[in-house]
Amino acid sequence: MKIFKFFLCALLFTSASTYAQNEIKPERQPGHTNQNKFKQLYDEFATPNMFRTGSGAPGPAYYQQQADYKMDIEIDDVNARLYGDETITYTNNSPDELKYLWVQLDQNMRARDSKTPLINSSGIGPATSASRATRSYLKESFDGGFNIEHVKDVNGKDLPHTINRTMMRVELPKPMKTGDKFSFKIKWWYNINDHVKDGGRSGYEYFEENDNRIYVMAQFYPRMAVYNDVEGWQNSQFWGRDEFALPFGDFDVNIIVPADHILDGTGYLTNREEVYTKEMMKRYNQAKKSYDKPVMIVTQEEAEKTEKTKSNKKKTWKLSAQMVRDFGFATSRKFLWDMMAVKIGDRDVMAVSMYSKEGNPLWEQWSTYAVASTLKSYSRMTFDYPYHKAISVHAPMGMEYPMICYNFGRPDKDGNYSDRTKYGMISVIIHEVGHNFFPMIVNSDERQWTWMDEGLNTFVQYVAEQDFGEWYPTALSPGHDKYPSRRGPAKNIVRYMGGNQDFIAPIMTKGLNTYQFGSNAYSKPATGLNILRETIMGRDLFDYSFREYANRWMFKHPTPEDFFRTMEDASAVDLDWFWRGWFYTTDYTDIGIKEVKKYAVTSNPNENGRKLAERFNMDPNALVYFIGEGEEGYDEAMNNGTSIEDLPTVKEYIMDNFTPEEQKNLKKSPKYFYQVTFDKPGGLVMPLIVEYEYADGSKEKVTYPAQIWRLNDKEVSRAVATDKEIVAITVDPDLETADVDTSNNSWPREVEQSDFDKFKDKVKN
Ligand SMILES: [Zn+2]
Repeated sequence: MKIFKFFLCALLFTSASTYAQNEIKPERQPGHTNQNKFKQLYDEFATPNMFRTGSGAPGPAYYQQQADYKMDIEIDDVNARLYGDETITYTNNSPDELKYLWVQLDQNMRARDSKTPLINSSGIGPATSASRATRSYLKESFDGGFNIEHVKDVNGKDLPHTINRTMMRVELPKPMKTGDKFSFKIKWWYNINDHVKDGGRSGYEYFEENDNRIYVMAQFYPRMAVYNDVEGWQNSQFWGRDEFALPFGDFDVNIIVPADHILDGTGYLTNREEVYTKEMMKRYNQAKKSYDKPVMIVTQEEAEKTEKTKSNKKKTWKLSAQMVRDFGFATSRKFLWDMMAVKIGDRDVMAVSMYSKEGNPLWEQWSTYAVASTLKSYSRMTFDYPYHKAISVHAPMGMEYPMICYNFGRPDKDGNYSDRTKYGMISVIIHEVGHNFFPMIVNSDERQWTWMDEGLNTFVQYVAEQDFGEWYPTALSPGHDKYPSRRGPAKNIVRYMGGNQDFIAPIMTKGLNTYQFGSNAYSKPATGLNILRETIMGRDLFDYSFREYANRWMFKHPTPEDFFRTMEDASAVDLDWFWRGWFYTTDYTDIGIKEVKKYAVTSNPNENGRKLAERFNMDPNALVYFIGEGEEGYDEAMNNGTSIEDLPTVKEYIMDNFTPEEQKNLKKSPKYFYQVTFDKPGGLVMPLIVEYEYADGSKEKVTYPAQIWRLNDKEVSRAVATDKEIVAITVDPDLETADVDTSNNSWPREVEQSDFDKFKDKVKN
C-alpha cells in the first residue's frame, strides 16, 4: 500500500515540472486582481430579500401590480386610422405609496418628433431606389404618433399629465396606498403605419389588387408601465428595437371593423353568434372536436369572393381576456381561417390560423399543425398552456402577443416555395407561438433583458422544432431526417463567438445596445442552455430545473437572478462559473491538446528519479520509476523487451509489496503511460471532453468537469494509464462546446492540406 503513495509522487513530480516552466509574470504585479473564473457571483447578483429569495423563487413579500382595461376601438379602413377610448383600472399591490402613474405611448416612436431616427448613423450610398430616395429626402415623414384627446378620471375631470416622448406621467388626485384601485380614461387616435414600407411590429399590409389591407394590430393603446421591487417604475423609453415590460390584467375590448372583415385576437370571443354566420358556427363546432386535422371556418373560395367587394356596414367583435399582459388583434376581409383542437393536459385548446390566399398553399398545409405541435412541446418543457387558443396570423414579420402572433413565410405568385421559405415559416410560427410562454406568461422585462424571453424561447424552439420534425415527417424535405434547426446546436454559434470582439457584447446587455442582436440575444443564450442540457447538467437535471423556473414564475415577473438561482437551486449543480463566462463576458471556448508524452516504467532510475528518491529519503529499490519519452534512460527501459507487451508491468515491479490476499484485489495492469497536456487559449471555462482512440480501434470518451480548470486557467495535464496503446486523442469530438478553433483539438495533429497539395492530388487523379 505504501508503494501506491510513491507511485503518485512520481507522477506529481512530472506534472509539477511542466507547471514550473510557465512564465506567468504579469500576475505577480501589484494591483493585479484575481480573475478566478470560479468566483461566485455575489458581486454581480442582487442581494436576496423578502421579494425574491436566494433560491430564485418569489419571496413571501413578492407582489405585482395589476392593470385592467375596458376598451372601445374602431378601425377606419378608408383612412387607415385607429380610434380608441379606454378605462384603465390600476391596482397598487406594492407596499409603496404612488404619487403618479406611468403610461407607455409606444406609437410615439412613429411621431414626427420621434428621436428614434436620430440615434442611428446614416450615410449616402452611390445608388438608391427612387421610392427609397423619395421617402428619405422628398417626403415629410409619416406621422404615426398617438393623438391623446383627453386623460380624465371616471367623473370626467381632466387629470394633469406630462408626455415625455413614449412615456406619459399621469398625476393622481391623491397618492395610492397599498391595495388602492384607481380608474382613469384615455381617448386617442393615430394613423396606422404601413409596416411593409415603414417597418414596425404592427400596422397594415396593403394589397393593390382589390385595394385591401390586412391589419395586424398591437401597441395600439396607451399601456400601463410595470412598477416593481427591482426598478420602481420601468419607464425607459421605447426606441423601437427593445420590446416591452407590461403588468398582467383583464381586458374587455370591443372592436368595430367593416362588416365583411374577419377578426381574431387576444381573449374569448364573447359574441360569436353575432359575428359568425350559421355556416361558420357549424364548422367551428366541428373544429372543436377535430384533433387530427384543421377545419376551415372560412375557405379560400369564400375569402376570394369577399375581398372583391367592400361593405359599408360595421360589425363589433367583443373579446374578453383574463390574466394577460397585452392585447393584439388581426382583421381583414382577405382572411381564410382554420382551426383544430389540441389536448393539453385534460383541456382542449384551439390551434388557429388566419391567412390570405397569398400564404397558400403553405399556410393551409402547415400553420395550424405547427401551432398545435408547439403548444405540446412547450407544455412538456414548462407547464400546460393555460389559455384557450393560440392564433398564427400570416404577415410579413414575426411578432408575438398573448394568444396571437404574426408570422412570415409566403410562396411566390404561382404558389411555389423554397425549403428556406417553408422551414422559415414553420420555425417562426414555433418561435412566436412559443412566446406565449416566454414572456407572455413567464413575464420577464423585455425592455431590459432581451435574452430572458428571446434566449429562453429560442432554446425551447429548438426542442419544439426537433419534435415537429419527428411528429410530422412529411413536412421535411427529401434528404432531411431531422428538422434543420438554425439555432441551438453549439457548432452553429462558433462563427459569432470567434468573431471580432469589437462587435460582441455580453448577453447581459440591454437589447437596444447590443451588436449582432440575433446572435447576442437569441442564439447565444439558447445555445448556452442547450450546452447546459446536453453536456453540463444532463437532460434530467436541466429539464427539472427549467420546468421549476417556468412554474415558479408563471404569471409573475422574474429577473435574471431568479433564473440563474433556480437552475442551481433545483439541480444542485453550481453554475456560477457558467453564468459568469457565458452571460457576463464575451469569452469564447478554445481548448486544445498541447503535448502528449509517453512514459516507460522501470526499476532503473535516471537522474530525475534518483533525485526524487533522495529528496523524500526513500529506499530507491522500493520505487517504480517513470521515464518520459526523450529523457535519459527511456530507450533502455523500452528496449528491455522486444515489444511493450513483453515489458514488466507496474504490477510486476511492485508485486512483492503486497500480501497474496491483496494481490487478488489488483484487477488492473496498465502497460501504457501517457501524460496529456491540454491547453486553453480561449477565456471560457468548459468541461474538457476527450476521446481516446486505441490501437485496436476502440474509443473511450472521458469528460473532465469544467472544474478541472479551477487552479490553472491556461493548461492542465492528465496522467493516463491504459493496457492498450493510444493512437489518437480528440478534444470535444462531437462539437458540443462551441470551440472556435478545432485545429488544435487532435493528436497527432491533423495536417491540413494546403491548396497546392489538393491541386496536386487532383492532377494525379
Ligand atoms: Zn422572439
